[in-house]
Amino acid sequence: MDHISRRKFNKTLSKGIVGSTFLSSLPYACALGADQNNQKKLGVALVGLGSYSTYQLAPALMDCEYCYLAAIVTGTPEKEKIWQDKYGITRENVYNYDNFDKIASNNSVDIIYVVLPNSMHADFSIRAARAGKHVICEKPMAMNVEECDAIIDACKKANVKLGVGYRLHSEPYTKEIKRIVAAKEFGKINYIGAEAAYRSTSNPEQWRLNIELSGGGALMNMGVYAIQSVIYGSGENPISVTAQEFSTRPDYFKETDETITAQFEFESGVFANIMTSHNVSANKLFGSCDNGWFELDPASTYIPLAGRTSKGPLNFKQERQQKLQMDDFAKHVLMGAPNVAPGEMGKRDMIIVEAIYKSIAAGNKKIPLNLGQMGL
Ligand code: NAD
Repeated sequence: MDHISRRKFNKTLSKGIVGSTFLSSLPYACALGADQNNQKKLGVALVGLGSYSTYQLAPALMDCEYCYLAAIVTGTPEKEKIWQDKYGITRENVYNYDNFDKIASNNSVDIIYVVLPNSMHADFSIRAARAGKHVICEKPMAMNVEECDAIIDACKKANVKLGVGYRLHSEPYTKEIKRIVAAKEFGKINYIGAEAAYRSTSNPEQWRLNIELSGGGALMNMGVYAIQSVIYGSGENPISVTAQEFSTRPDYFKETDETITAQFEFESGVFANIMTSHNVSANKLFGSCDNGWFELDPASTYIPLAGRTSKGPLNFKQERQQKLQMDDFAKHVLMGAPNVAPGEMGKRDMIIVEAIYKSIAAGNKKIPLNLGQMGL
């Protein structure tokens, strides 16, 4: 974890982009963060202070222009003081899972970001919406489609915005692929290949290997990136999927899927193949078109992405993806900018995840999908 240096703090303060300690105790006029727009910064509460919040989201919030870390929600009392000291969070902005609903009366919190094991996404996202706060829910959005619907409904009823933690929609290499695809820059797309996988060897007791907490293995964790890749790599939702499962370490992967491959058909004639695994290292997107090709390698890590096309290398400024993602969501709330990863997108991906498991359970049967334009 990198600490906020005095030098960095002074620099930020002098720019008028102040940290959460001071924001919550300063009058509104002083809490003008995105100074070029004279715009108030939104307060974010992180729910779940595990590795993603600790090493990615909290540091990214220090750099965000439109939001800041206002509050924390943790089930681990020892983390409270550490986070308070590190990020200057006041006592009244610290919650646990039991008193979480009291956050409704905390005016310094505008957005609640749910970063818990998958089985807890729906419960906390729905409670966040009922507290009248905008919601970002980590991926995969929930355990199943029914839970996705419940989150979407709760946000609609509470009239709050809902985003899924799909950081890549704010990332420049991914945005360039989406642009190339929309512009048909290389003519008709014929084939998309996507791999999203890493080799898991650590703690066999981790929640990702526990079906009750994760809802599934590689597919729920990394597979959603591969599914996303073939959709933005083709610009279409698939019309069918056929899937296979491979298991080589059943003693470690006792309850959850180790490796899954799946093939998709699309209305335009594109076809796609994905591989996702907790036992293989791979991270790629490749698109083959009539007049050329495009590639991201890596395609979904949060170390900087890299890419090239048949015309040459892609080269974009590297910024922390989570900063871009949270600023995009804050701009959606503040200014009505597009919601680049709405709840419907998370739900669509869960429909596909369920279809993949269904195909495997039915002996690799082709499962039709009727997604229309959902999440595009
Ligand atoms: P983690 O295991 O590091 O942290 C989980 C947190 O949940 C911990 O603070 C833990 O104390 C808390 N928790 C509460 N109840 C728990 C329980 N019953 N069992 C285990 N932990 C419990 O996990 P993480 O890597 O921070 O992942 C959290 C969420 O964020 C997951 O949904 C994951 O898919 C998502 N994530 C997204 C990205 C991304 O790039 N968008 C990256 C990593 C994780």
